[in-house]
Formats: sequence, structure tokens, C-alpha cells
Amino acid sequence: MSEPRKLYVKSFGCQMNVYDAQRMTDQLAREGYVETATPDDADLVILNTCHIREKAAEKVYSELGRLRKQQEELGRRTMVAVAGCVAQAEGAEIVKRAQGVDLVVGPQSYHRLPELLAEAESRGTHKRAKIVETEFPVEDKFDFLAPPSREAIARRGPTAFVTVQEGCDKFCTFCVVPYTRGAELSRPVGKILDEVRRLADGGVREVTLIGQNVNAYHGDDGHGRPAGLAELVRRVAEVPGIARIRYTTSHPRDMDEELIAAHREMPALMPYLHLPVQSGSNRILTAMNRKHDRELYFEIVARVRAARPDIAFSSDFIVGFPGESDEDFADTMDLVEKVGFAGAFSFKYSPRPGTPAATSDDQLPEDVKNERLYALQALLERQKQAFDQACRGRRLDILLEKPGRLPGQLIGRSPYLQSVVVLAPRAAIGSLAQVEVREVSTKSLAGDILGGEFFETQVPPSGGPRGEAGLRPAEKVEA
Ligand code: SAM
Ligand code: SF4
Repeated sequence: MSEPRKLYVKSFGCQMNVYDAQRMTDQLAREGYVETATPDDADLVILNTCHIREKAAEKVYSELGRLRKQQEELGRRTMVAVAGCVAQAEGAEIVKRAQGVDLVVGPQSYHRLPELLAEAESRGTHKRAKIVETEFPVEDKFDFLAPPSREAIARRGPTAFVTVQEGCDKFCTFCVVPYTRGAELSRPVGKILDEVRRLADGGVREVTLIGQNVNAYHGDDGHGRPAGLAELVRRVAEVPGIARIRYTTSHPRDMDEELIAAHREMPALMPYLHLPVQSGSNRILTAMNRKHDRELYFEIVARVRAARPDIAFSSDFIVGFPGESDEDFADTMDLVEKVGFAGAFSFKYSPRPGTPAATSDDQLPEDVKNERLYALQALLERQKQAFDQACRGRRLDILLEKPGRLPGQLIGRSPYLQSVVVLAPRAAIGSLAQVEVREVSTKSLAGDILGGEFFETQVPPSGGPRGEAGLRPAEKVEA
């Protein structure tokens, strides 16, 4: 019997790429590929790339250079494929710029990977034959992608991403997504439920429904009608074994009343909402073509908080968008002060080729962008720390996900996506535990288990397994 071929996938960027990487791995598992943790012994390397900011895109070329050097040193020639949004945006440019790339494949063609690889192989590596596949095919790739095996699901742990929607029709003036991922497309409810059932059978307890604009979801409900995200969440919550649901990334314009009501009515929907605002200035929001203003954002935050008082918010921010004045930036800081975030991602504006804002004459100097990013991140970090500190003494349900760094430790996630370190046996992985938070550090929380699915009785307050393993303060615990 021939040795299985080894596959190494390196993913850059967002959760959608994490999901895509898994689906490519599942697809190639059918062709006899097994995953390896390093490119050194791989027969096939896939770089699953991100084009959202210039830095992210440039990483691909340095990675390709590193790979090529490594191959020369090892004296072996590995098949190299570039997938993801850089593949879609730059296509044939990649094979011109970087040597040693055999295949360039855009996100809509992953289901064709086996045949594209076979074609590249049959042409022979000595010719350095290149295949570039960046069409938006008429068939839906999700109908052809192989599902993960039970073993793959179990290996990936009790949480999983499920893509329910791809692409975007919003065309924010800074963003490449509508060009790299194409028009908005929602998967039918039935297909998503099949996937979630399969994941739940394999031990998954928490699913995050993902899409570039996930709350614009409008998939076929099985009766020829479009279902909104709220309905999808309700159906997913009915799948036996699924205890927690999240969704990301949402657009403020698409937070409809039904979805807000779902937060009030469904305990399985986690009280943590990522709702990107990008800027607090109405002038900049208009220039960004965001289709919402700061007043609408405040209103949505208030309505969601009224529906689910324990909810926390996170957001995305861009500083230094073309023409952003000191007053505009002050409006962003003011919005942050007024809302209060438990977490956030913030970026310097990066001009992306082909997007309207990239050709604006009002580009800001790098030092202004740096200064604003620094100030914004300092404020967001203070808010995050304050939120985490306020969790001390709270009792939170933690989904135990994986072993911790020290013997006897497990790491789980709070409803607010905080890492929480507890002492518990490995067999408890995949169960929900009620935990009293005892310690808070910049990276993680630590707490004591009070009970939960796996723990029928309360853990003794001292001695026993907890005392023996000697849980260290959270400051010293690495998540
Ligand atoms: N669809 C989501 C939304 O509407 O907010 C965001 C998707 S995008 C993949 C993730 C984040 O990247 C955005 O929210 C934005 O903050 C950031 N981003 C996108 N384009 C950018 C650019 N040209 N420069 C800097 N940050 C950018
Ligand atoms: Fe990009 Fe999000 Fe705007 Fe769509 S809504 S264009 S994905 S930032």
C-alpha cells in the first residue's frame, strides 16, 4: 500500500478562512491526503490567504519566498497552491511574482481542488506548469465539498464554525470583500442543519454561524421562502447536543427586530455580539458607504441591551480613513466611551487596489494613523480590562475545550469568549461547567468549578484534586 500523501495548510485572516481550510482538508482527505503540522514533510502546501489589508496580502509573498528557500535546502519539490482572497484578487499575478506556485485557486472553486491538483501534477513539476482558477462558477461549491469525518470533527474539539452566508453586496468604500468573495449568497437552511447535526454527532457543542455579512442571511427555509438569521438560529438550537450558538460578522443595518428578539428568548444564543461600527463620525461613515450612522448604532446597542441585559459588545474600527479629521476621530473615541466594549479589533486604514477609497486624494500620513490607532487601542484595552475585572466573583457557564498548560488544567470559554482556566479531568472536555471566576489577568481568567454537566456534585472548596494540582493564580496561567 502506498504511503498517504501529506498536506500542510496555512491559513491567514478571518474565521471564514479557518472554515475553508478545514473544508479543503476534508475534501483532500478523500483523495488520501493526511494533515501534517509542518511544511517540511508535506507533499502539498496550501496557503489560504487574506487580502483585507496590504500587510495581510504581503505575508503571502514572504511565505512563498520562505517555502521556496526551504525546498531548495531540503532538495525537494513540493506542490504549492495559493488559495483564498489574494488568489482571487491577484490571480495570474501571483505566478508571475512568486516562483514555485503550481496552482492558484479562488474561494469559490475549492470543490474542484482534486481535479485541479491532478491536472497540475499531470503536467509535471519540471515545467513549472501553472493553473489559475479564479472564476465564480455557477455551481454552489457547498454542494460538492466533502463533509468532515467523525475523527476530524472530534480532533477539532467541541466548537466549530459553519459558513452560512458568503460574499457581500454592501460595497463599503474601503473593502475588498465584494470583489474577492463575490455577491451575497446564503446556504439553504436544510443544508446548514445537516452540517450542524453531523458536527453535533461528532461531539460539537457550540457552533458559530459565520458569513461576511451574516445577519443579511436569507437562505431557503425548505418551503421556497427565505429564512432570516433569527429563524436559522432557532432551527440550529433545536439540534440535539448543540448548547451554544454565536454568529459573526454582523452589519448594524441588518440587526432586525426578530434577531434582537432571539437574543431575549434564546438562552443558547451567547450574550456577546460582534457588531462592527468602523467609525464614530457620521461624515466618515457616509464616506465609507456604511449605510448606518452613529445614532442608528447607539439605538441598536440600546435595543439589544434591553432585550438581553447581560450582553457585551465587540466591534471593528478603522482609523485614518481618507479625510478623517481630528474631530472625526474624536467622534470615534466618544462613541467608544458611550458604548463601552468588552473587546475590539482596530486597524489603520489600508488602501486596497480596486476600492473607491484607495484613489481618494485625502490619504492621511502614517504617523497620524499610528497616533490615532495607539490612542484608540489604549481606550479599548482599558474597557476590555474593566469588563474582565468585573467578571471576578461572577458565576459563568464555561464550555471546556482543551487541556491547559499545566497537568490537571482545562481551558474553556466563557459566554464572552474569554479563556478560563479551571482544574478538571480531561474527560470533562466538551461539557459545560458552572465556574466562579476567582482570578483575572490580561490573557485569561481562572476559576473554581461549582457544578455542571460533568460535575454532579460541587467540587470541595479545598484539598482534593484542586488542592493537589495547586491551581496557580491566573496571572501565571497561559491560555
Ligand atoms: N463585514 C464586516 C463588517 O461589515 O464590518 C467586516 C468584514 S472585514 C473582513 C473585517 C474588518 O476588516 C472590517 O470590519 C474592517 O474593520 C477591516 N477592514 C476592511 N477593509 C479594511 C481596510 N481597507 N483597511 C483597514 N481595515 C480594513
Ligand atoms: Fe466589507 Fe463588511 Fe462592508 Fe461588506 S459590509 S463591504 S464585508 S466591510
